[in-house]
Amino acid sequence: MLVELTFKAVDHMRHIGKTSSLQGRAGVQCALPGTTDQQHRPGLVGRFALDRRNELVRIGGHLRVFIPGNMNHARRSPHIKGFNFHAHINKDDIVAALEQLPGLLRLQMLHEGGTLIEKKLLSSKSVLPAGQQHQTAAYNCAMSFPAYTRAQALPTTLTQRLVMLDGAMGTMIQRLRLSEAQYRGERFHAFHKDVKGNNELLSLTRPEVIRDIHEGYLAAGADLIETNTFGATTVAQADYDMADLALEMNLQSARLARAACDKFSTADHPRYVAGALGPTPKTASISPDVNDPGARNIDFEQLRSAYYEQVQALVEGGSDVLLVETIFDTLNAKAALFAIDEYFEASGQCLPLLISGTVTDASGRILSGQTVGAFWHSVRHARPLAVGLNCALGAALMRPYIQELHRVVGDEAFISCYPNAGLPNPMSETGFDETPEVTSRLLHEFAAEGLVNIVGGCCGTTPDHIGAIRTAVSPLAPRALRAHAALAAM
Ligand SMILES: [Zn+2]
Repeated sequence: MLVELTFKAVDHMRHIGKTSSLQGRAGVQCALPGTTDQQHRPGLVGRFALDRRNELVRIGGHLRVFIPGNMNHARRSPHIKGFNFHAHINKDDIVAALEQLPGLLRLQMLHEGGTLIEKKLLSSKSVLPAGQQHQTAAYNCAMSFPAYTRAQALPTTLTQRLVMLDGAMGTMIQRLRLSEAQYRGERFHAFHKDVKGNNELLSLTRPEVIRDIHEGYLAAGADLIETNTFGATTVAQADYDMADLALEMNLQSARLARAACDKFSTADHPRYVAGALGPTPKTASISPDVNDPGARNIDFEQLRSAYYEQVQALVEGGSDVLLVETIFDTLNAKAALFAIDEYFEASGQCLPLLISGTVTDASGRILSGQTVGAFWHSVRHARPLAVGLNCALGAALMRPYIQELHRVVGDEAFISCYPNAGLPNPMSETGFDETPEVTSRLLHEFAAEGLVNIVGGCCGTTPDHIGAIRTAVSPLAPRALRAHAALAAM
């Protein structure tokens, strides 16, 4: 039998946290308040009930409770009043015991013997005050996002039309063929190491270059523009001996994008700054040494602290949403998501989150080995507003993976797709072959299939690509999300 238990989010979790007997006896591994690494952690809680002294005790058997991975958001979002657990239990007698649980608001049976039985609302000791709507953040619930502190209109816009992301920053910079001296500017003219190619430095030394690129994409119709911060972490900047400038790069880059968006925003067409977090050149789950599979040149904590600094500066500089992109190692991405969560917790901010992975070859896996479906299940605890794929293969080869994502994500998030302009070609001016006509035709096909909500371009795309994509997809409806109940997903 499968039951759904709806608890008051905060009180109940606190209670479980305090009930050491429960942990001790059942070996519980549940998500406690303050525990942030909760993803996919089923808690074997044991069957439990209140005893005569009003203490929660395990009464034998087994009750498998899947702790939702978004407990933090529940605690952070005062509008969420309840939390759902789906519990597989064996015998009917547990139901009476479960009704006694502290914080239990509602208990309903979903399945018995594998078949869905009629939803049954059982009597419960605690009920919601009159007039109060029961809101839940269930693991399998459709479209339940946190209460955002910025870009609050964006989720609604995503249900109404396709939203345009900008194209490549790096490609536009590359086309300018800036010299070493131009990268350095006055401020770094005597710097001890070459900095040509350090694109994030340009936010400090050539802000007008970055501004013009942003404005080019905004003029082409981009709703979201990415900050020039793909490599602005202490980890990536260490390659240039500029780790100590990472914070400033993020702050200035966010401000540049903010100013450009504010210049183009109208009441009818708001523009959003997407604070961009890249993967860094190091990978936490793959060995850099073929003779030592256990070797690593970075660990989770180093990444987490680098990302925390980046997130803080991006948000303080005026980002509306955060975009963790070009993910080739899910562990790196999880360090970024962890840092974002920590920062939200500390600051009280809560920005929409966009997460974008990169399928690097025809195996359909990201570099750290996950299929697209596995990737989604590794990041869904972060409750992104949108999840998607970018870079790498180009749109044509990306199709099966976008289709897979569309299937596995269901109604839990919107889907984004911003491919490269085809496969790399060193002989081409932008490094990529696809013209705006080709890329826009491919993305038009994705949109016509109902696969995408956010589209744009990655390496090799230009404002002309973005303009063409916008023209191609704007008559089409965005990927539809059915507002289905948690029940339908079981
Ligand atoms: Zn790319």
